[in-house]
Amino acid sequence: MSRELFREVSRRDFLKLCGGVAAALGLSEVSVPEVAEVLAASSKKPPVVWLEFGSCSGCSTSFLNADSPNAVDVLLNHLSVRYIEVIMAAQGAMTEEVLHETITNEAGEYIVVVEGVVPTKDGYGMIAGRNFYEVLEEVAANAKAVIALGSCSAFGGIPGAKPNPGEVKPVSELIGKEKVINIPGCPANPSWLLTTVVHVLMFGMPELDSYGRPKVIFGQCIHDNCERRASFDEGMYVEKYGDEEIGRDYCLVKVGCKGPNTFSNCPQVRWNSGKSWCVGVGAGCIGCVEPGWPDAFMPFHDRLPDIALPGYAGLRADADLVGTVLGAATAIGIGAHLVGAAAKGKLGKHEASEDKAKTEA
Ligand code: SF4
Ligand code: SF4
Repeated sequence: MSRELFREVSRRDFLKLCGGVAAALGLSEVSVPEVAEVLAASSKKPPVVWLEFGSCSGCSTSFLNADSPNAVDVLLNHLSVRYIEVIMAAQGAMTEEVLHETITNEAGEYIVVVEGVVPTKDGYGMIAGRNFYEVLEEVAANAKAVIALGSCSAFGGIPGAKPNPGEVKPVSELIGKEKVINIPGCPANPSWLLTTVVHVLMFGMPELDSYGRPKVIFGQCIHDNCERRASFDEGMYVEKYGDEEIGRDYCLVKVGCKGPNTFSNCPQVRWNSGKSWCVGVGAGCIGCVEPGWPDAFMPFHDRLPDIALPGYAGLRADADLVGTVLGAATAIGIGAHLVGAAAKGKLGKHEASEDKAKTEA
């Protein structure tokens, strides 16, 4: 591992980090010193156990690559990470001892981060001779909070897509929802983990939506904060990938953007040190933070089929309401919005009448 990874956090970077976390938590600037105190207090370093189950390790990679500020520095300097399979140098019996010491001596204090799904069929994933689900049950039992990081551990993600031969399940289905915080995403944004850990340390469990996600991160629809929204409202759509309109911020809904059905702060926090995000680079949102993804959002580059919802206007208020009505992430926003656009004569004739007929039905 490079020295760079372990470099000291400069005070400027550290305060920038605290400012970002405070903003993400919805706190004012006057709270920045409080956030800094929580992160900096060495005597309060919370023990963290990071379990790696069935995954590509993409969420670890995403987190470890964060450099503005360097989240790894914060992880190493301000949290007490006792066990993290993807980067720990130790192995074998020694690591198992540390793990068991932590869950015994720090009962009620340590935070567990779980990356990856949990196969429920024997032999589909083991650590030290035990199935993943046995390890999860033991480690989670005494934890202060369990953070299911990434779409796999939160909702099943790609390993949970059909045919799911290992009968994998998300964390909350196995240990209950009580202390599980879901931070989905494929991968999860590094800022989401940090924001959630700080929330747990400062205020306890964050307010969650009906899918167990912190509302402070996943409370707003992507479509409402998208930089291409003005194009959507004006009926300026990209018709196919490769069109020059992609670079002119035309809306991507007709080439499959699932932003109207997806709830997260991606447009605000962005990726790659805040430089850009999926819709910003013209790829469209594929809904990776939603339950049912990826199966419920396929094909990625087609418009989702419309679902008739009489009196839809204003329904897309938050993820809970969508979940209450439909029970899972499905296509409700796109059709209704396109009907609105169609009514203004902004869509093609065929699509306009087709959408309107479906919604009226
Ligand atoms: S449909 Fe997608 S690209 Fe268009 S405004 Fe909504 S989120 Fe942005
Ligand atoms: S914009 Fe959509 S696909 Fe991209 S990371 Fe956010 S939720 Fe996932």
